Amino acid sequence: MGIDLGTCNTLVCVRGEGIVLNEPSVVAVWKGTNKVLQQPDGSLAVGWAAKEMLGKTPGSISAIRPLKDGVISDFEITEALLKYFINKVQGRRFMGGPRVVIAVPSGITAVEKRAVIDSAERAGARRVYLIEEPMAAAIGAGLPVTEATASMIVDIGGGTTEVAILSLADIAQCESVRTAGDDFDEAIINHMKKAYNLMIGEQTSERIKIEIGSAAPVGEETTMEVRGRDMISGLPRKTVVTSEEIRACLQEPISAICETVTRTLERAEPELAADLVDNGITLAGGGALLRGIDKVIADATGLDVRIADDPLTCVARGTATYLESLEEWKSTMESDRDDN
Ligand code: ADP
Ligand code: MG
Repeated sequence: MGIDLGTCNTLVCVRGEGIVLNEPSVVAVWKGTNKVLQQPDGSLAVGWAAKEMLGKTPGSISAIRPLKDGVISDFEITEALLKYFINKVQGRRFMGGPRVVIAVPSGITAVEKRAVIDSAERAGARRVYLIEEPMAAAIGAGLPVTEATASMIVDIGGGTTEVAILSLADIAQCESVRTAGDDFDEAIINHMKKAYNLMIGEQTSERIKIEIGSAAPVGEETTMEVRGRDMISGLPRKTVVTSEEIRACLQEPISAICETVTRTLERAEPELAADLVDNGITLAGGGALLRGIDKVIADATGLDVRIADDPLTCVARGTATYLESLEEWKSTMESDRDDN
């Protein structure tokens, strides 16, 4: 199975079955401990069950996103997350434990990589391989990564944006910034405070972003009714916001992403840069769904920008494809010794 261990969402893709699991990368624990909360039915509060608690947890519980910043903030909680997903998918599908490919943020350290491998092994995986997330995203987006021509992928996730130029099955240039979808949400929260004295939660701001958010003017402008708590009276209140003002408040994180893209381009070898004139840039990750983001990046770079098909599942599909090619390669290398 291939696993996309994302800052926001974890997806599992199995050969022949496609995406079999897609849940938030959230774990609920007893506050101040690493003890994962059990639900009344005995199952662990991980994924959807834990996400529902985000921002609504009573004092004794906290809902944690252990990969929020593209680094592993807590090994034990990350392990609980991986275990939950591997066990949930494993079932009776894999005799003797599955082979697992895990896409990890390109910024994580060797120690963190080791911890991911150990955790997956403890969770029952027979063999564990890691792949850098931008590589998996590019494979999932169908880019010709093994060829002698440059491909560029910009994966805008929740916690991080990963920008990479790939060629000959390797990463030639890569940069990861901690500006992505979460920062769009945060910019909306700050705007609501400043402009309306209204406190809103993360789930509400994400909904505003998805419903009326944009990076550039596209189509008709709209409005949305928003509910929150008045900062002065302390009481619940609602107000109406426009797509124009939301676009304006998103400009800062969006330009940070554009700068990372142009910086990566400036560092590329001239031959690779030349290829990109023809091949352009491909966007992946949930942030690629923000309206007009392709246009803004095209304007900033002068290159063609396209959005990958189904950008939210690119990385997971890429890991499964990578695992298939690993298996093919292995079976040609050791045709009789392999046990599937
Ligand atoms: P990660 O790989 O870091 O887990 P994802 O690629 O799953 O992240 O993307 C999650 C981010 O995409 C979140 O910030 C979410 O709000 C955002 N997102 C999802 N759908 C949309 C959409 N339609 N428009 C804008 N942002 C979106
Ligand atoms: Mg991702």
